[in-house]
Amino acid sequence: MISVATKVNEVREQVKKWKKEGLTVGFVPTMGYLHEGHQSLIAKAVEENDKVVVSIFVNPMQFGPNEDLASYPRDLQKDSDLCESTGANLIFHPEPEEMYTDGFCSYVDMSVLTEELCGLSRPVHFRGVCTVVSKLFHIVTPDRAYFGQKDAQQLAIIKRMVLDLNMDIEIIGCPIVREEDGLAKSSRNTYLSSEERQAALILSKSIKLGQTLVEGGETNCAKIITAMTDLIESEPLAKIDYIKIVDALTMQQIDTIDRPVLCAMAVYIGKTRLIDNFIED
Ligand code: AMP
Repeated sequence: MISVATKVNEVREQVKKWKKEGLTVGFVPTMGYLHEGHQSLIAKAVEENDKVVVSIFVNPMQFGPNEDLASYPRDLQKDSDLCESTGANLIFHPEPEEMYTDGFCSYVDMSVLTEELCGLSRPVHFRGVCTVVSKLFHIVTPDRAYFGQKDAQQLAIIKRMVLDLNMDIEIIGCPIVREEDGLAKSSRNTYLSSEERQAALILSKSIKLGQTLVEGGETNCAKIITAMTDLIESEPLAKIDYIKIVDALTMQQIDTIDRPVLCAMAVYIGKTRLIDNFIED
């Protein structure tokens, strides 16, 4: 059985032992309710490192007051089975009190990259992400950490944080894993009714349309966004939060595709907010 550590010190001691033996450590931070998207990160970490730690922590700090912290799906038994069968060696599953002790008041706050896309509709989100990932990096001290391109802004932010704060960790981005019909896998897909699940396909269809336009040589961002918006608006259950094309490194909006770009969207299907994106290098 894979061990589940709930205390910071248990993780520290285990990782210290591994490092003493000269072993490399890969790390996959998650909020649990794991699916094949998470599994692809864990599999890559297992492939590239001697030992792999997976954290499962629904981080209260990255949820806004009206978001889904309380209802976020959880299933530690199923998650442990997936981690074990994929070859991970240790799960870190702390209580919020273990991560945020009484009087906690230190934060990692990034500007610029966090002020666009999801940062606009989720103002406290990336401060919570940067703070918890930074803490987890200090606890696990991995050689490499694995993040999905599903959360492309988060991936860019973590790369920037590691660079800015001189963290000696290699950040590895992994491609989006999708359902057979195209919907990007997400723990939040469980919120969708069967009618909403069908409607949610409009995200990946619109991503595909945008990608086809770009690959066909269209460089006018406004035209691409209009075409994608029109398609999403043809789905009555969908409500757009944003669709934007930004510089892939800085997350700043651009008018013309003349450098590597991220085209990202957040769309409500009923009450569920889903995200999807593509990157064009
Ligand atoms: P989460 O549990 O949602 O915080 O996600 C943990 C990690 O898994 C993040 O780095 C995500 O980007 C990644 N991830 C989630 N869904 C997918 C997916 N469909 N494909 C690839 N990576 C994913």
